[in-house]
Amino acid sequence: MIINNPKINLPILHLVGDTADEMGLECYVIGGWVRDLFLHRESQDIDVVVVGSGIVLAQAVASKLGKAHLSVFRTYGTAQVKKNDIEIEFVGARKESYRSDSRNPIVEDGTLEDDQNRRDFTMNALAICLNKSRYGELLDPFGGLQDMDECTIRTPLDPDITFSDDPLRMLRAVRFASQLGFYLHSETFDAICRNRERIQIITKERVADELNKIMLSRRPSVGWKLIDKTGLLPLIFPELNNLKGVETKEGKGHKDIFLHTIQVLDNVAEKSDNLWLRWAALLHDIGKPKTKTWDEKSGWTFFNHNYIGAKMIPRIFRSMKLPQNEKMDYVIKMVNLHMRPIHLIEEEVTDSAVRRLLFEAGDDIDDLMILCSADITSRNQEKVERFHKNYELLKQKMVELEERDRIRNFQPPVRGDEIMEILHLPPCNQVGEIKTAIKDAILDGVIPNEYEPAKAFMLQKAKEMGLLT
Ligand code: ATP
Ligand code: MG
Repeated sequence: MIINNPKINLPILHLVGDTADEMGLECYVIGGWVRDLFLHRESQDIDVVVVGSGIVLAQAVASKLGKAHLSVFRTYGTAQVKKNDIEIEFVGARKESYRSDSRNPIVEDGTLEDDQNRRDFTMNALAICLNKSRYGELLDPFGGLQDMDECTIRTPLDPDITFSDDPLRMLRAVRFASQLGFYLHSETFDAICRNRERIQIITKERVADELNKIMLSRRPSVGWKLIDKTGLLPLIFPELNNLKGVETKEGKGHKDIFLHTIQVLDNVAEKSDNLWLRWAALLHDIGKPKTKTWDEKSGWTFFNHNYIGAKMIPRIFRSMKLPQNEKMDYVIKMVNLHMRPIHLIEEEVTDSAVRRLLFEAGDDIDDLMILCSADITSRNQEKVERFHKNYELLKQKMVELEERDRIRNFQPPVRGDEIMEILHLPPCNQVGEIKTAIKDAILDGVIPNEYEPAKAFMLQKAKEMGLLT
């Protein structure tokens, strides 16, 4: 079959084919880019496989292109050519064989078929020839096109071998299902279940890459449900696995926190592409199992689960090789604060409580409100309506107070060094005490967030503390 898609007629691909012809080499565009061509997805990086040396062809292409950037990776036998925003990766066709006692395959030069055999899924094994006489010819040995028509993810060879050779492919399967809205072929699914234990030989970094791609897909719950159904969940994320199940006492059950969590995650994903807000959604109730208690009067309660959950995050991030930086701090903050807007809504909304929330959330307040709204998954329609009404009231109040008091990026109107100077104090606890008192007075609405009133308040406070006569 000859493909006649405008994208395959990119001038640079013709140039690659012509160069290969001059050198007497066969070459093909292969893998993700070809798959995405049929799925009408944007795809930046182009992979070209050469029967022969990928490096030699890349060098020839780069010199023909003129101002192109060439990087050669001799150890991997690959080379990359960058021109404007196009990136082409060149690799020689290869044959891989795995041995059970080693994670790394034995790699030899091979044919196009050998190279297609080592690919993970039928849709990722598609190749299109770039040589002039066969330009646009599709090579689809495993029925990848039909599988894509049927939205099916399937391995080209025996799935037990494919997954055992490189167990990361199990997570890639789940990730593609989540990204593309595809289904796992039943034999592929069963083989993942059988080989799941082998995921443990994969580095945490590679696992985290796939999890982040799942998190960024349109409905991340698809991925997490598959991770659960295949039995991978306790192996890669035991704390999330602990959220599963419902306990019943005296006929009263609580909701399944795992199912609730992935619903909240989907709700957030509808509103925001922020990967870390999505992680916060996945982790917002992670502290619930540890705090679960039952008593006859209140039923099931999870007192302080936000706080306990936030405390669990550094260890989880460390063990999953997620970033240990301000991104993690943001997730901790979101999890910690996720109950606050709800509490405000349920009780009477006082200006002081709203100011305090604005102060603590700072510029992340809008994200917190997305998370909080996403957390309402009750089936009780009346409750949901009441929530949304009060939620809008709260948002309105936030806007009013923020306009008036500018709390989001709170900077104390009287600074510490000024307090020390006026009161002739060295750096000491009393300075901190006065600063806190000024902040509280502003948040409680005792004084406005302005210099003169804050200074007067400071002098008054100093008098009460016996620092001024
Ligand atoms: P994306 O770029 O969206 O993550 P992709 O399918 O292009 O998806 P890459 O990691 O860019 O994934 O890999 C390019 C191609 O290399 C794949 O389409 C597939 O043919 C092959 N490939 C990648 N990883 C594996 C693997 N672990 N096992 C087998 N083949 C793989
Ligand atoms: Mg790719």
